[in-house]
Amino acid sequence: MSPIVFSMTVKFFLLAFCLALMLALLFWQHWTQSKRFSEQQRQSELLDGCFYGNPLPTTVTSVESGKFLLVNNVFETEFGWSNSFVAGKTLKEIGLWHEHFKRDEYVQKIKERGWLKMFPMELQNARGQLYYANVNASLFSYQGEAAIISVITDRAVFRQMEESILAKSRRFQVLFENIRQGIARVDRYGYFVECNRMFCEELGYSMEELQRLRPENITPPQWHERDEQIWREETLARGWSDSHEKEQIKKDGTVYPVEVQFYTYADAQGRYDGYWGFVQDISGRKHEEETLHSLAYCDQLTGLPNRILFQDRITHAIGRAQRGSYSIALLYIDLDRFKNINDTLGIQMGNALLKVVAEQLGKLLRSGDSLARMGGDEFSILLEEQVTPQGVSIIAERIVAFFEHPIVVMDQEIYITASIGISLYPEDSDTAEALLSQADLAMFKAKELGRNTWQFFEKSIRQNVSERLQLENSLRHALQRHELDVYYQPQIDIVNDKLVGVEALVRWNHPEFGLLLPDRFIPLAEDMGIITSVGAWVIQEACRQLAQWRAAGFLVPRMVVNLSAQQLERASLVELVARQLEINSLEPGMLELEITESMLMRQSGRIMEVLHSLRDLGVSLAIDDFGTGYSSLGYLKRLPVRHLKVDSSFVRDIGKDSGDEAIIRAIIAMSNSLGLEVVAEGVEHAEQSSFLRAEGCRYAQGFFYAHPTPANTLLSGWKDREQKKEV
Ligand code: C2E
Ligand code: MG
Ligand code: MG
Repeated sequence: MSPIVFSMTVKFFLLAFCLALMLALLFWQHWTQSKRFSEQQRQSELLDGCFYGNPLPTTVTSVESGKFLLVNNVFETEFGWSNSFVAGKTLKEIGLWHEHFKRDEYVQKIKERGWLKMFPMELQNARGQLYYANVNASLFSYQGEAAIISVITDRAVFRQMEESILAKSRRFQVLFENIRQGIARVDRYGYFVECNRMFCEELGYSMEELQRLRPENITPPQWHERDEQIWREETLARGWSDSHEKEQIKKDGTVYPVEVQFYTYADAQGRYDGYWGFVQDISGRKHEEETLHSLAYCDQLTGLPNRILFQDRITHAIGRAQRGSYSIALLYIDLDRFKNINDTLGIQMGNALLKVVAEQLGKLLRSGDSLARMGGDEFSILLEEQVTPQGVSIIAERIVAFFEHPIVVMDQEIYITASIGISLYPEDSDTAEALLSQADLAMFKAKELGRNTWQFFEKSIRQNVSERLQLENSLRHALQRHELDVYYQPQIDIVNDKLVGVEALVRWNHPEFGLLLPDRFIPLAEDMGIITSVGAWVIQEACRQLAQWRAAGFLVPRMVVNLSAQQLERASLVELVARQLEINSLEPGMLELEITESMLMRQSGRIMEVLHSLRDLGVSLAIDDFGTGYSSLGYLKRLPVRHLKVDSSFVRDIGKDSGDEAIIRAIIAMSNSLGLEVVAEGVEHAEQSSFLRAEGCRYAQGFFYAHPTPANTLLSGWKDREQKKEV
């Protein structure tokens, strides 16, 4: 290649390179310019959108000078200044400034972080009105200048909300502190954090002390497990618990009942953060409940369970016995002739006696047995341990034996006996109601058997008892309906074979059951408390009859009338007797009143008074059924008694039982030495009559001589007898 061609080629390439470079430079310049333009446009569109489209007043101010660079039209309307007015002016210059506005602090904070959230400001609009605002601001460059864009939110809305929240919380605080309920907040670590006054006062702890404690520390250990269960199953599971009763321990150690309810609360993230406990002291309510319970289920006099509670206990005991396949027994105890005590010694004494009996019966029981007062003078015992008929009868015997001794009440000795009925589960029944009624029926049977004894329930008893109830009803009207009658049985001087008196023995002509003997209805009349009117009627009738006989020339020397304890315990008896003697013009010595040994055993002061008044009146007294009781001889000496009636049970065995014969001999000897006359009862055979005569017993009574008969038959029968004797 020639040098000229070579230099031309080099020049050409150099030129082409310069041209390409110039084109590239031109192109790059164009490209960067257009890029800058689109960025500016994008920024300005963004600003337009955020700025002019913003529904809140928005301003752009210079960081350096504090002058307004731009405000949006919402600012213009809300504050009353146009964009052109504010531009280039500071806040102070346009009057937006308020003395509380701390601009330096505002700017400083924005500079530190580049933004600011909810900065509180107090501004003033063109009309001079205060404008409470929260401002969100951000640092940015505006036309090459460091600027702050501020979005102003009217705080009136927030303020209203805040104020109502504050008021609410103040009201809550007042409520929290003064409510008559303990409120405590426990944090998620299980410590008390906040407790109101009531809570602190009830427990006796200060707030500071409580803050070192956990709920377990003020709860008796026996509640921990249950609390834990309620906590897991209710409170945590659904955020709250039902009301529960439990106990709390005060600082001084007192344990008291409370009712509690829990509500959990969560933190900002919705996680469990602790709980509120609402605690109510329920000691007062508990006390009322207990009083109500005790009124409803306890006997107020003795403090024992009453019938309602006891029935419930029996039901539960039956359930246990069923599961354990064992027997239980029910004893129904009724005090004999308790009404007498009330009538004669007064209700106060009666109540005191019931209390002592309740106490003493309790001592006779084993730990598993329970005792209740069923009402009046009735008690019941439930035996649950090793129950066998033999075992139960031993306990029944023990109770009967207990009553054999006098009971000391208010420094006074009282004699009283008890009748007991027994029913057994499962033999007799399997319900509480039926067992009780069967034991009750058996108790009636025990009464019929002469009281002071016990009796197991038998099916036949039911029949007897319904009969008894029927008798009870008709007995109330027997007197008015003239169904009662008096039979008379002669008493004979067996040495001279002479009539010395007649014993008046009451009978009841029952419209349905026919002629009833006193054993069927006298105990009933005593229990029903109507024996005094029955007895008064017998005295009246007997005196009238004696007077009538004597007027008719049948000179019966003496009328003997039986008395009941209740009659003897009434002072009105003396009055009644005196009046009947007077009305019928009878000598007091013509009347003899019979009392039993057991009646004397009561040794009541009143009885002694009445006996002495009767003696003073001139009426003679006899002790009936002698030998069956426990009369002390010394005691007999002090009594104004004339006759001792040897009980028929001794007479019956004359010729058969040398022991009974010995007793009769002893009674006769003792009577002689005390100056008393002996009357032998129940003489049925000539052999008995001869034995008595031989032993020096002068008087006798019995079927051998004459049966008890109505008044008219007695007279005619006696006349016949006298006539036969004469023949
Ligand atoms: P008591 O006073 O011991 O009367 C004697 C009882 O023995 C009478 O029974 C009489 O009928 C019966 N008796 C008489 N002789 C014989 C005999 O040889 N053999 C047998 N086995 N018995 C004989 P009654 O009339 O059934 O009276 C029973 C009891 O009722 C009386 O026993 C008395 O305690 C009481 N009683 C009777 N009338 C009255 C009354 O008006 N008032 C009171 N409170 N009790 C009365
Ligand atoms: Mg008698
Ligand atoms: Mg007798």
